[in-house]
Amino acid sequence: MKNKVCICLIAFFYILSCHAQVGFNEWFEKKSLRVDFALSGNSEYQNAALQQMREEPVWGGPVNNLIDQFNYGGYYVNIYDKASNKLIYSRGFNTLFEEWRSTEQAKKEVQSWTNSVSVPYPKKSILFEITARNKGTMQFESLLKVEVDPASIFIDKSKLKENVVTRIQYKGDPSGKVDLVFIGEGYTKEEESKFEDDAKRFAEALFTTPPFDMRRDDFNVWSVGLVSEDSGTDVSGKGIFKNTALNSGYYTFGVDRYLTTPDMKSIRDAVWNVACDAIFILVNTDMYGGGGMYNFYAMGTSDNARTPVVFVHEFGHSFAGLADEYFSSEVAYDDNFYNLKMEPWEPNITTLVDFDSKWKDLLPQDTPVPTPLNDAHKDNIGVFEGGGYLAKGIYRPMDHCMMRDYAPFCPACSRAILRMIDFLSDRAY
Ligand SMILES: [Zn+2]
Repeated sequence: MKNKVCICLIAFFYILSCHAQVGFNEWFEKKSLRVDFALSGNSEYQNAALQQMREEPVWGGPVNNLIDQFNYGGYYVNIYDKASNKLIYSRGFNTLFEEWRSTEQAKKEVQSWTNSVSVPYPKKSILFEITARNKGTMQFESLLKVEVDPASIFIDKSKLKENVVTRIQYKGDPSGKVDLVFIGEGYTKEEESKFEDDAKRFAEALFTTPPFDMRRDDFNVWSVGLVSEDSGTDVSGKGIFKNTALNSGYYTFGVDRYLTTPDMKSIRDAVWNVACDAIFILVNTDMYGGGGMYNFYAMGTSDNARTPVVFVHEFGHSFAGLADEYFSSEVAYDDNFYNLKMEPWEPNITTLVDFDSKWKDLLPQDTPVPTPLNDAHKDNIGVFEGGGYLAKGIYRPMDHCMMRDYAPFCPACSRAILRMIDFLSDRAY
């Protein structure tokens, strides 16, 4: 009898998984459609416009989890079947442009930034849509909606440069794994082996940090060695400019430690033939700094003593949509970065507008909300005032966390990370 139940269960899950696969196979081929687009505007408005479309040979993302229900990020890409108008793929993401929109500069001038998304390659005509979150309502509004015929002659099918791609860790088919790709930036030809050693070192730093340590087998790790003419990166505030593959630099928005690149096109060109769910750009310098935006990329430096934890912190932003839990450091954003009348989308901060949707279920019984930072509560999960760059009006889950001061991830952050691993490794999440 027991065996019969087992067989029935196996048959049931087999049918269930086949059914889910049919969804992907009905709509998509296992390669990618990359769409580059411009976001332009200022603090008041933004527009989106197509730049180029490319067919690329690999799809390493989920084949079952095609609809993103996290509701994270400032933007979503939505793919609809044109004939039926059915939503067949979606994914949230952030951009550096969105952060720029909350700087002082964006109140005075208009800029245009290139962005890029990859989606599974459609079999039939689709509607490709980019939506942006309205901070006043927290709802998404359409910025760009275009019809794409997968047979169009305007989709570029050319190969790009074959970079040196190394498997650092391979645990199985990319669709069922999180594919983490390290890209080398500011490494010269002579420094290629240093990059591979650095990438391996940071992969180990990640997999020895809870909760990633429990889920190492859910990750494939790749490295893409780009060759830069110069070693290092720009430090524009000190007059240092280097010719590097991805045009990275410190002093993003004028902040000395904020290391990023606006050059999304070069980043996507670097990973054109690699399964890629998450990008970490490793910059060859010993200076302190980094940056990370949700489902965009994270960036950190190779040789600073604090880099292993900075790396994990930035990866928390880019991988799991985690907010900064600190509130006393210099940042470039104005006080309107978070709208205190609305619940922010990040899973590890709250304005208490809709705390039920956050980590309320993780609180010990009788925890006061907000939670006083006294001996009874300071080492437990609670709802502590201060977070998201503001000392008042935003609350964090624990006094200390990787997203505040490089302490171990708090339970709310850990849960968000595990959910994202489940999503990208194609499990129920
Ligand atoms: Zn946290």
